[in-house]
Amino acid sequence: MDPRKLFVDERQSGYCVFCGGAPESQDHCPSKVLLDEPLPPDLPVVDACAECNNSFSLDEQYLACLIECALCGSATPDGVSRPKVRRILTECPALVVQLNESKRMDNSGNVVWQPDIGRVQNILLKLARGHIAHELSLPKLERPDKPAILPLIAMSDQQRSEFESPNGGDTALWPEIGSRAFIRAAKQWSESPSSAWTVIQPGRYRYMVSQSDGDFVQIVLSEYLACRVSWY
Ligand SMILES: [Zn+2]
Repeated sequence: MDPRKLFVDERQSGYCVFCGGAPESQDHCPSKVLLDEPLPPDLPVVDACAECNNSFSLDEQYLACLIECALCGSATPDGVSRPKVRRILTECPALVVQLNESKRMDNSGNVVWQPDIGRVQNILLKLARGHIAHELSLPKLERPDKPAILPLIAMSDQQRSEFESPNGGDTALWPEIGSRAFIRAAKQWSESPSSAWTVIQPGRYRYMVSQSDGDFVQIVLSEYLACRVSWY
């Protein structure tokens, strides 16, 4: 069976997976701006109306740049690593200004970023709808619960464990927190996540779709920003 084209895909054709409108175009999921060149072959696509296909791109650029700026500690073209983000920042001085305005110092003198959470949620929900439509051939046009969005580094060990293996599969076998075995396992999460995850581009984008506890989608961007979108 060719996983790129399954018979169940017929069920998700005929409507925009983001709004239920007319399927006038196809949209890559994840969006290309969140990935580096060369793009992986056979990037998943979903049906989208023309309006949805166009309406997300500015927020997608914003999210891609915000994450890269947070990782690199800089909101200037020269200060970031990803060539795609460097190009966007070079071409969009207004975005550089906006990102710099969201840069703050916390009480300890560390750089922190105050995201425009509405824009971030808009894209994470879009991605979740795309993944669930593609993986389960399941339209999810209704609004989900409020998405949980958190940098991986801000998670407690327990949160991280539950996030990485949300179906409980390996949790009973997890070693004591703080032990060498735990630290080694934690390192493995980032280097080779459990097989429940689909890795679109190592270090850049992975996601999982599950129906074990309601329907939910988890996404990790640049091994930095983690999110869970749930429908109950
Ligand atoms: Zn649409």
